[in-house]
Amino acid sequence: MWTYHPELLATPVPRYTSYPTAAEFGDDVGPVDMEEALAAIAPGTVVSLYLHIPYCRDICWYCGCNTGAANRAARLATYVERLEREIALVAQRVTGVRVGRIAFGGGSPNAIPPAAFLRLVESVRTAFDCTDAILSVEVDPRGFDRDWAGAIGRAGVSRVSLGVQTLDPQVQAAIGRVQPSEDIRRTTSLLREAGVGSINFDLMYGLPRQSEQSLRASIVESIAMAPDRLAVFGYAHVPHLVPRQRRIVADGLAGTAERFAQAALAHRLLVDAGYDRVGFDHFARPADALAQAAASGGLRRNFQGFTEDPAEILIGLGASAISDFPDRILQAEKNTGRYGMRIDAGALATCRGLRRSPEDRLRGRAIETILTRGTADLTALDGGADIRIRLTPFERYGLIAWEGSVLRLSEDALPYARVIASKLDAYRQTASARFSHAV
Ligand code: SF4
Repeated sequence: MWTYHPELLATPVPRYTSYPTAAEFGDDVGPVDMEEALAAIAPGTVVSLYLHIPYCRDICWYCGCNTGAANRAARLATYVERLEREIALVAQRVTGVRVGRIAFGGGSPNAIPPAAFLRLVESVRTAFDCTDAILSVEVDPRGFDRDWAGAIGRAGVSRVSLGVQTLDPQVQAAIGRVQPSEDIRRTTSLLREAGVGSINFDLMYGLPRQSEQSLRASIVESIAMAPDRLAVFGYAHVPHLVPRQRRIVADGLAGTAERFAQAALAHRLLVDAGYDRVGFDHFARPADALAQAAASGGLRRNFQGFTEDPAEILIGLGASAISDFPDRILQAEKNTGRYGMRIDAGALATCRGLRRSPEDRLRGRAIETILTRGTADLTALDGGADIRIRLTPFERYGLIAWEGSVLRLSEDALPYARVIASKLDAYRQTASARFSHAV
């Protein structure tokens, strides 16, 4: 089993859902950069779409997402209209692209009425060539009902991710997300009836009042509900960045040693239950597409975490949505009011991001292969000697090995994968307080 080396986990590191990370985004890019990137997409290219719904029925105290309370129907309706307008604006600017995946995330997509969701799906299918596109939706089980399940079935959604986090009522109370197990069970069965083939549960460790016993109980109960995939994330307590986390009593939070033990426990329970490990925090049934991508070397990492999506271009739609192109990352205005004003004016809503240099692209690819395949070829990278020096402590513990300039992580290096990846991060060679625990 994994060995705990506290000194290797002492420095906070990013999750590397992109490289460079969002911490490097600046405001020196805007709509012109998005116009240019869209116009440069070659006809026939397969792209992915992400639609952000920045509303939730109830706001959880731990949540770092760009979301607000879905307490005014008129506000939701206006947002959906603007999203439809943005879909048309973007579609006008691309020629002959094909959409391979359409993902709805948030927030909670099911904070909007099911009819509004179906309208959005129809708008996307009318505006783009979506033949055979895979449709996925994030769902908040609280309040999920038969009408929503019906919409999911009618739209042909094949993948759903449920926010579960913990099934322990005491921990739920401590994080402001009260969600009886029955909600999860009912939602899962409604989704199966609606024909959803792949259901994911998001779980968390390192939550306030969460012990190993409590985590074990949540995982065992989750496994009994037979999700196809699970992701087990470490809670990041960063109230200086996420003000709503100030409601969480920090005294009850696990330290690094306890977090490490909880991550190891989750890993062991899920692998013993027959799930394949995918990356460092995802798990999937061997027959699931994500496990198969991991087994065949096709696993990728993007803003949604580990994915089997091979598209090189992701177009984000909605407030705060991120678009990812090989040479740039572009984020839309976060504030829904200002986002709406830009869209109403017929403009694209891009306001932050960065341009990737050739060196960024090389390092980004190496970081991605460390996290997805446990290996990276550093031949073409500048500063290879410095990287080797920074990785010496990991080599000493047998967590990595070198074959020429190819770096290989051992199976025991899994909890250190992000820290190892951070040694290739040219923007992050000094300790930073902007990120949470390394495990
Ligand atoms: S439901 Fe999900 S997105 Fe909404 S506040 Fe809770 S954790 Fe955040």
